[in-house]
Amino acid sequence: MFDDLRDLYQEVILDHGRKPRNFRRLDDADREGRGDNPMCGDRMELWVKLAPDGRLDDIAFQGKGCAISMASASLMTETVRGKTPEEAKELSDKFRALATTGTCPECGGALADDMERLQVLGGVSEFPSRVKCATLAWHTLNAALDNSGKEASSE
Ligand code: ZN
Repeated sequence: MFDDLRDLYQEVILDHGRKPRNFRRLDDADREGRGDNPMCGDRMELWVKLAPDGRLDDIAFQGKGCAISMASASLMTETVRGKTPEEAKELSDKFRALATTGTCPECGGALADDMERLQVLGGVSEFPSRVKCATLAWHTLNAALDNSGKEASSE
């Protein structure tokens, strides 16, 4: 198990997990969401500030959880900044496919560079119990963008 985990926790994931980017509260956020993954104990809050044209102007999160969940949230905030909500949701769908299958067959096109950056988390597909850790941030983002006010879970 240790060798497997060592493979899974690649350098990038460790770096983001230890020093998450955009780990702060946004006081003037337009959208916010909460996420909970009880399987692992990962919890996060996410804030989004929208630009006048609707793009994600700023995004930040705070929370507690395993290295995978924190690294995924950190990478997500870096990836969706400047995107439209539609692009962010498309990335969310593609990331879920990546985390589940380990490959991203439809990841060409305009979002290819972003998906390449997220590829480091594709290894979680070999660890079904960790997939929810990786997708929690994206579920939370979707909840925030939908502004449903409901707590997102990684189901
Ligand atoms: Zn976790």
